[in-house]
Amino acid sequence: MENNLRQVQENYAKIQENIAQAALLSGRTPEEITFMAVTKTVPPELVNCAIDCGIRLLGENRVQEYQSKKDAYRSGVPVDFIGTLQTNKVKYLIGNIRMIQSVNKFSLAQEIERCAGKQNLIQKILLEVNIGGEDSKSGIPPEQLPTLLEQISEMPHLQVCGLMTIPPPTQDTRFLEAMQELFLRMKELHFPNVEMNILSMGMSDDYVQAIQHGANLVRIGSALFGARTYPLSHA
Ligand SMILES: *Cc1c(COP(=O)(O)O)cnc(C)c1O
Repeated sequence: MENNLRQVQENYAKIQENIAQAALLSGRTPEEITFMAVTKTVPPELVNCAIDCGIRLLGENRVQEYQSKKDAYRSGVPVDFIGTLQTNKVKYLIGNIRMIQSVNKFSLAQEIERCAGKQNLIQKILLEVNIGGEDSKSGIPPEQLPTLLEQISEMPHLQVCGLMTIPPPTQDTRFLEAMQELFLRMKELHFPNVEMNILSMGMSDDYVQAIQHGANLVRIGSALFGARTYPLSHA
């Protein structure tokens, strides 16, 4: 564990440096980029170590894992939900999670609206875009975004803050470019309760390039915590 803690500190410092450089190269300040620590499979002690280093946002993928770990995290650090979300589990997140980044269909938005309405609060969300058009991935096809934004703008307990994506893994940057262009286009549309401020894009392998293509929130797991070791049931 001692070793792991030191490794996380080193990784954190290195990633911060890379983020700062990429931000400056793209004409922004390092403070404009949010560094999220993705905590799936990571024990709470290591997550708390990342918080001690300076992490101010956590990302969780699975509702059950979130519920079992959240009380062990140092308090005061917000958590976003970034995984595939079944509508029947939405109720466990509302009131606890800062933002749901992975809204990938109308019916999910409807259920979030219903649960947030019940608690009389406004839930921040991002819309997840399937920028590569991959069958294997969830996410909204880019051409369906305007219609969905219009529908969501009629839901008083939702606030759209931007877009999220997991681009196909390739060396070239065309999907990052496509996503940047889409984000800028969606910014031009004006709907009530829609403010396109966040572009959540970039993970351990592509966060530098993502920042260079306009991302202002990067979701980093393995580069910070080391390679994940999954329990056998998920292997
Ligand atoms: C796991 C995960 C990440 C982080 O992936 P790494 O490659 O480990 O940085 C980011 N976003 C989502 C949605 C994830 O599921």
